[in-house]
Amino acid sequence: MADKDAKEERKEIGELGEFGLIDHLTKDVELHQKSTVMGIGDDAAVIHQEGRHGIISTDMLVEGIHFHLSYAPLKHIGYKAVVTNLSDIYAMNAYPEQITVSIAISNRFSVQALDELYDGIKTACRVYGVDLIGGDTTSSTSGLIISITAIGSAEPQDIVYRSGAKPGDIMCVSGDLGAAYLGLQILERERQLYEAHPGVQPDLEDQEYLVRRQLKPEARRDVIDTFRKYKITPTAMMDISDGLSSEVFHICKASKVGAFLEEGKVPIHPDAEKMALKFKMDPITCALSGGEDYELLFTVAEADLEKIRYMPSVYIVGEIVDEKDGITLHTTGGNIHPLKAQGWQHVTG
Ligand code: ADP
Ligand code: MG
Repeated sequence: MADKDAKEERKEIGELGEFGLIDHLTKDVELHQKSTVMGIGDDAAVIHQEGRHGIISTDMLVEGIHFHLSYAPLKHIGYKAVVTNLSDIYAMNAYPEQITVSIAISNRFSVQALDELYDGIKTACRVYGVDLIGGDTTSSTSGLIISITAIGSAEPQDIVYRSGAKPGDIMCVSGDLGAAYLGLQILERERQLYEAHPGVQPDLEDQEYLVRRQLKPEARRDVIDTFRKYKITPTAMMDISDGLSSEVFHICKASKVGAFLEEGKVPIHPDAEKMALKFKMDPITCALSGGEDYELLFTVAEADLEKIRYMPSVYIVGEIVDEKDGITLHTTGGNIHPLKAQGWQHVTG
C-alpha cells in the first residue's frame, strides 16, 4: 500500500472530512433494482417488496482476522466482502437486491486505498446487479472493519431453509471444494517468505486457479437461475463457507436427519489435489474442512433425480438418511466411519 501511495500523491481522509468522504465514495453509485425506492442520501433507504418475504443477511470482516492486507488487494477484499454476503441470500434460493456497507477506518488508510476498496464493492454490485443503498462510516484506532448487509426478497414458497431435508433426499454440491483453502496456504507461504526476505515478489503465477478461489470467489447465482429454469426447489440448502463437513452437520441438525457422504464423489480440482499433496495434506481433508469455497450444498427429493442429473454444476455427493443412522463418510477405501465436523489429518512422510 505504501508503494502505491508514493506514486500518486497520498490523499488523507482528513482532507475530505466524513461527509466529503461519503460523497466521494458514493457519488457514482448506480442503481439497478426496481425495488430500490430511495438509496444513499436520506436518513434511511426505502425498498419495495410487493408482498414478498424480505431476506436479510449480515457479516462483519475484521482486518487481521478475516483478511490480511499483506496479500489481499483492497479491491479484492471489497469484492469478496460483497460476494460472500450475496452467497448467503442465494443460499436461501433467493436473489439479493440491495446491500449496505459500513466501514471503520484508521488514518493509516488513504483516500486512494478506500477508492480501491469501493472499486471492488461497486464491481461486485454491477456483476450481480445489486444496489448499494447506504451504510455508515466511522473511524477505528487501527485496523479496517467492514460490515455488509445484503437484502433480497422471494415468494414465500421459494425460500429454502436448512431444515427441510428428508431421508431419501439426494445431497449435492455445486462445484469443486478445497481450492480456496489451498489458495490461502499458498498466500500464507508467500507472506512468510516476504516477511523473511522483503522485496521478494510473491510467486503466484502458476497457481492462478487456487489463488483466485481464495481472493476472488464468486457466488452461485447461476445455480439459482438453473433451479428456476428446471423448476426445482431444493428441500434444504446452505452455502459452503466453513467446509463441507461442517455444513452437512448444520443441515442434518436443522433437519433432524443423518447423512451418508461418499468421499469418492466429492469434487476436487486437479490443481487442488496436486497442491494438497505438495503441502503434505490429504486432498479430501482440504475439501471437507477447508472452507471459503462459497459453493452451494443442497438436498433434493429423489423424484427430482432425473432433473438434477442433467443440470450443469451439480455433483451428487451422498444421501440423507434417518437421524438414528448418524452422519457417516463412505471412504474410497470402502470403510464407513463417522464424519468429523472438522479436524486436520496431515499426511505423514
Ligand atoms: P446518518 O447521519 O443518518 O448516519 P450519514 O451521514 O452517516 O447519515 O450517511 C449519509 C448517507 O450516506 C446515508 O444514506 C448513508 O446510508 C450513506 N452512507 C454513509 N456511509 C456510507 C458508506 N460507507 N457506504 C455507503 N453509503 C454510506
Ligand atoms: Mg451515519
